[in-house]
Amino acid sequence: MPNESIENHLRNSNVNAFSASRRLPSRRSIENRLLHSVVPSFTFTALAFRTVLEAFQSAPVTHSPCHSGNGEGELGSILAGMAAPRLNLDGEVIKPLKICMIGAGGFIGSHLCEKLMFETDHSVLAVDIYSDKINHLLQPGQKWSDRIEFHKLNIKNDSRLEGLVKVSDLVINLAAICTPADYNTRPLDTIYSNFVDALPVVQYCRENKIRLIHFSTCEVYGKTIGSFLPPGHPLKQDPAFYMLKEDETPCIFGSIDKQRWSYACAKQLIERLVYAEGAENGLEFSIVRPFNWIGPRMDFIPGVDGPQDSVPRVLACFSNNLMKGEPLKLVEGGKSQRTFIYIKDAIDVVQRMIENPSRANGQIFNVGNPYNEVTVRELAELMTDVYCKVSGQKRPEQATIDVTGMEFYGPGYDDSDKRIPDMTIVKKQLEWEPKTSLYDLMESTLTYQHATYAEAVKRSMSKTTVN
Ligand code: NAD
Ligand code: UDP
Repeated sequence: MPNESIENHLRNSNVNAFSASRRLPSRRSIENRLLHSVVPSFTFTALAFRTVLEAFQSAPVTHSPCHSGNGEGELGSILAGMAAPRLNLDGEVIKPLKICMIGAGGFIGSHLCEKLMFETDHSVLAVDIYSDKINHLLQPGQKWSDRIEFHKLNIKNDSRLEGLVKVSDLVINLAAICTPADYNTRPLDTIYSNFVDALPVVQYCRENKIRLIHFSTCEVYGKTIGSFLPPGHPLKQDPAFYMLKEDETPCIFGSIDKQRWSYACAKQLIERLVYAEGAENGLEFSIVRPFNWIGPRMDFIPGVDGPQDSVPRVLACFSNNLMKGEPLKLVEGGKSQRTFIYIKDAIDVVQRMIENPSRANGQIFNVGNPYNEVTVRELAELMTDVYCKVSGQKRPEQATIDVTGMEFYGPGYDDSDKRIPDMTIVKKQLEWEPKTSLYDLMESTLTYQHATYAEAVKRSMSKTTVN
């Protein structure tokens, strides 16, 4: 697609969650006031502000009719102050579940906990080492307070995990090391985290006959078949050579010395184990393959709420560069292609998996937004434009610089060339499609990044200069 049409496509594509929130003047104006208010200290910025802004962005406005059977009837009764029972996609009443969510304190977990607290009656046993991203949900005295419990534990070595699994109706396992900078520099930790530590979770679910939703990754596809064709080969344009389908596409990784693939390989093996437990022992499972879910609360900003020398995923790397006013680093010229999906769209379909077991069990689901494809270079351009718009900052003269994979990540780095999810299965089974365009999700996310971090980044820069 030529650049101009990509731009138009990004701006014009689909009605989205963000524009839906624009129809709510009261909430937007609260957000605006928050965004433009003077932020007195970093502690406030990073924690309280993030919590308040996020709570407003996520607070339920109406119950989503797609999770509630016949929309109009239910909306009518809600408006009349009578809570109608929520129905699943087959018109069955949704019963409250006790969900053991492992990795609940991370990016995806925090959004899922919010959705479950704000919009459902389900209870969550939230398991993680950290709780910063869900602390706003754990404050006492909220209307969901008796439905969420935080269990601070490391699943590597804590015998309490089995007890938590046993008392649950459903386990969702999100826990993982899942940052590419770790795959080639900490391959052992990566393999242990994504395979060995997940083993007991699968085993407890099988032994106690508890349903499991396991989070895998789109990275299990590795490289596309088309990546082995010479540059410019016409077959590269043929979807058979790049479209990633759960039940057809092979998993293609690089050689063993390319330790980047330690993550993909560990995730693939645990997928195979979960699948085999289903086939041989009747484990009820669903596997989710996220395709670059992004949004507020993803990762950390180095030196602000994460280690100075750590490298987060691309959204946080580029946000950090933009807030510091430095060029965005394009690994290998930014030629890799990704499709990005807004976290709030993606969480919707996880809720559908939870509430429609007969449609979700035994399935592997790609979850992404095939319409939001860009090269990393185009992503950098877009983020620069959007960040300048939301922050009022001037566009830098040099927006990007090229770096090699070796310089940026060290030896053993390699990359997925292109990731477009085939959405046939998730659309058919769960009647779901993503809504938010890349432009809109970036506007909403960078507004959040700027409001949450810009002041703290400036302070950390001035400290570094003084020292
Ligand atoms: P995240 O790093 O924000 O969250 C993972 C959470 O798991 C963290 O809070 C971490 O503290 C916790 N955790 C890790 N090891 C643990 C342990 N031993 N004991 C207890 N808690 C532990 O990552 P995320 O983006 O929310 O991803 C969640 C899942 O989705 C992961 O399995 C990841 O592989 C998968 N995934 C995510 C994406 C994406 O786009 N965000 C893409 C592909 C796959
Ligand atoms: N990337 C980049 N500059 C950065 C960070 C990442 O060019 O500062 C590239 C990275 O090499 C990859 C893409 O952006 O091609 C997406 O990286 P991310 O870390 O988000 O995870 P991935 O999609 O590879 O799992």
